[in-house]
Parts: sequence; C-alpha cells; structure tokens
Amino acid sequence: MRLVSYDDGRVGGLDGDRIRPLPVRTMRDAIAAWEAGELAVPADTEGFPLGDARLRVPVADPSKIIAAPVNYRDHQAEMSTESQVGALGFFLKAPSSLLDPGGTIQLPYHDRRFDQEGELALVIGRTARRVSEQDALAYVFGYTGLLDITMRGGEDRSVRKSFETFTPMGPVLVTADEFGDPGRAELRCWVSGELRQQASTGDLIWDVARLVAYASSVTTLYPGDVISTGTPAGVGPLAAGDTIRLELSGLGLDLTAGVAADEIGRAHV
Ligand code: MN
Repeated sequence: MRLVSYDDGRVGGLDGDRIRPLPVRTMRDAIAAWEAGELAVPADTEGFPLGDARLRVPVADPSKIIAAPVNYRDHQAEMSTESQVGALGFFLKAPSSLLDPGGTIQLPYHDRRFDQEGELALVIGRTARRVSEQDALAYVFGYTGLLDITMRGGEDRSVRKSFETFTPMGPVLVTADEFGDPGRAELRCWVSGELRQQASTGDLIWDVARLVAYASSVTTLYPGDVISTGTPAGVGPLAAGDTIRLELSGLGLDLTAGVAADEIGRAHV
C-alpha cells in the first residue's frame, strides 16, 4: 500500500495519480488499523487527483526521530572519520524539525556550512523493546524518504540536525509488505539538478533490521517513531535558492525541498 498524508493530516492510498481517502483520521490511526489487520484502501471510492492535495509529512508527531550516523563506508571515507555507526550508536533529531514535502529549508546562519543528506527512513508500526534482528522487520510499518539536513561543525549532532525545517520527510509512505527488501532500495539525490548521491541500501553498514534491534535495545520504539538509516557519499553544501530532490526506488514520488536563508540571517556566535 502506498500512503500519503495530505491537507490537515488525513490519509489516502495513492493509486496512480489519484488519492483514495482512507476511513481513518490520521496516519497514527492507519498504523493502528494495520496492527489490527484492518488496513485497506477502499477500492470503490473514486478519489481525487493527487495534484489537488497538499501533501504533508507522513507522520507529523513521532515521539522521536532516531538517525544513524556514518552508516555507509563511502560516506565515512568522505568525512575522513575513524568512527562509524557501530562505535557511534544513534542520535536524535527533534520531531519539531519535520518539514512537509515541497517545503522550504531555512538556513539559520549565513556563515556556516549546511549539507543535504538523502536517506531511506522507516516508520515503526508496533511497540518494540529489545527485539531481535531476526524479528525486527515485523515491527516496521513502512518506508519513506528523509532529508537529514545537517550543519557541519563541532556541536553535537542532535543540535546540528534539529533546526526547524531540517527534516523534510515523505511524500509517500509505502507499507513494508509492498516495499519489499529494504536492503535493495536505490537512492539518488540531486541538488539544483546536480546528481550528488547515488547508492544502494545494500551498502548500509548496519541494515534496517540491525538498526531497529539496536535502537530497541536502548529505548522503547513506539508506533509512528521514525528511524533514518544514514546517508551515502556525496553530501555537499547548500545555498539559498537551491532545490533538493530525493528519489528512492519503490516510493514512486520524489521528495523535494527548497532552500532559503532564514530571514533573520544572523551570524553564528
Ligand atoms: Mn544523516
């Protein structure tokens, strides 16, 4: 099932270029229906054109956004770091940094570097605590695209990645059964038409099952929580006026975001 959140957060199934509304109020309700084995897209509704909807972030209020640092070896090489996910664990991005598809990233300072990081993300479907790698994928509701916008520098990752608008996510949330093997997704990310990132999730150092199992060994994962799997090589600086496009195989719709300088435009101090 290919799901979108739209307008005031209601949920529809995406069928070609039409949205068929689901009889639920929010994506959280859709996740609960999935857990109960009752999630279905009505086949008999006419629906309406995708272009008539304002697409929203698939889950607006996750209790947490967990993200993997340095989870591709080629990205580890470009960052010239000795550490990768096995030594670093994970970091948290503030849920308040989420941005709707097609939104505009606001760069908060004019004298710091900000990079795009295109990533495959997953949404948790049922409460998970200390689950095994073997069982982990059964806790995944679905998959979506995420841009982990990042300020470079010495602050903690959770600071550098939590500015308002720094987490565009969506636009499609594909249920795990339809998405298939999360280790076989192809990712491409363009900035203002330049292809910067191209990778397969088969190159993840820690795959989705290991990320879910590890995260659940630290904290309880709740339905709607997001885990972003990390970014491959090709991160690079963003400037006001840029446009970002993230393509993930299996989603069918690309995640886009604009870039602007925060109107305050202050220097970092
Ligand atoms: Mn990242």
